[in-house]
Amino acid sequence: MSKKVKVRFAPSPTGDLHVGNIRTALFDWAYARHTGGTFLFRIEDTDTTRVTDEYIAAAIDTLKWLGLHLDEGPEVGGENCPYLQSQRLDIYAMWAQKFLDQKDAYHCYCSAEELEATRERQRAANVAPGYDGTCRDLSADQIAAHKDNGRIPVIRMRMPDGGTTFVDQIRGEVSFDHKFVPDFVLVRGDGSPLYTLAVAVDDVLMKVTHVLRGEDLLSSTPRQIRVYQAMGVAEADYPLFAHLPFVMGQDNAKLSKRNGEVSIAWYRDKGFLPEAICNYLALLGWSPGDDRENVSMKEICELFTVEKVHSSPARFDMKKLEAINGDKIRALTIDEFLTWSLPFLTKEKVITGTDAEIALVKKALPLIQERIIMLSEIPQMLKFLFVTKFEVEADSVSKITDDASKSVLKRALKELEPITQWSHDSIEGALRSSLIEDMGLKPRIAFGAVRIAITGSTISPPLFESMELLGKDASLARISQALAL
Ligand code: GLU
Repeated sequence: MSKKVKVRFAPSPTGDLHVGNIRTALFDWAYARHTGGTFLFRIEDTDTTRVTDEYIAAAIDTLKWLGLHLDEGPEVGGENCPYLQSQRLDIYAMWAQKFLDQKDAYHCYCSAEELEATRERQRAANVAPGYDGTCRDLSADQIAAHKDNGRIPVIRMRMPDGGTTFVDQIRGEVSFDHKFVPDFVLVRGDGSPLYTLAVAVDDVLMKVTHVLRGEDLLSSTPRQIRVYQAMGVAEADYPLFAHLPFVMGQDNAKLSKRNGEVSIAWYRDKGFLPEAICNYLALLGWSPGDDRENVSMKEICELFTVEKVHSSPARFDMKKLEAINGDKIRALTIDEFLTWSLPFLTKEKVITGTDAEIALVKKALPLIQERIIMLSEIPQMLKFLFVTKFEVEADSVSKITDDASKSVLKRALKELEPITQWSHDSIEGALRSSLIEDMGLKPRIAFGAVRIAITGSTISPPLFESMELLGKDASLARISQALAL
């Protein structure tokens, strides 16, 4: 019987999770869901003190927000607690001691200066850099001398001659010659474990079956396999590895702060929907098998297989993400759209959140649902409905203070005053017959001036509907005010 799949996402969050992390998390989650397996979240905080409680909490919050629900991990718990590596130090120390006892590992007393001198020699001789094995087989006397000199050892894993070959689920067979995988440090002089020890020990103890992670970690795999061997894990029980392709920026360099926005918090603030982010990221390196660009979370789970992940790098395309976000916004029901909109409107202090304001927002949202690509555009689009002190945007003022615009606004005011049934139809009828038919103006000119007078901006929801929602008194007052500019 095949083992129940368990996939882990194991970041070292030294800031907000970024696009690359989330693409990995999404694939991990999708694979777990597709196979009916478990999605485990582990925090790898042994190599850096920059993983703070705040970043850990933010990472958990981001996963929740994206809808990538955890089966095991900090907060949710599970049978492999704790899930923070900094709380598992005794476990790594125990294994490191076992490796020493088994002679799979040894104490290395080389100083930083000596290691640097070795590297220099290797560079000069043009040979692969790496530990040269000086402390591999020290005699008892040599060890005693080092101790007498007050040298503090690290614990180093012994890499046997030969090589490591494994089948990467995306790349096929991958081999590493150990000439290029020198003996590596497991535990620092201060007793703290390194990533390679902690990751491998935890993947085994937590019964991870599949390691889906970024391609940058491919070269660490032979070291992890070495740790499995030292732990006595049978080859058939090693986790299967699948190294996901890099995510590149538009300039074909790996996506980073330098060539694109990488922080998921930024996308959230801009008003990208989690469904859109997941949809877009799912297509970065994976395809559902056809050309579709719109996939739901449910479809991602149903269709995701590792075989359909490509090995070539994927290019991040902001325009495509924006287009997908626009599609997802249009697919929301008005109630869903309202729920998403309110935090943006309150954050920008467009509304305080009274029932009357919310009711008006709900009426206005259908007007802009087709027009926006990010939720952060909403406050700007709707603020004209709520401002108490109305102002025309500075760079729009000159567009309504020329004589031609003034005559448009005067005429508009005259035609709108007598309307008794204030509706977008009656407003449109009055303005069309006077400004377009009588005055012979182009709609862009005629309605452009009225739009600025009403909304304060050249960009707004549809004009007549906006005026209907704003109401007759406020609409006329704004046109009068514009005429006085
Ligand atoms: N903690 C590692 C990192 O954030 C990833 C570990 C892994 O997936 O094996 O780079």
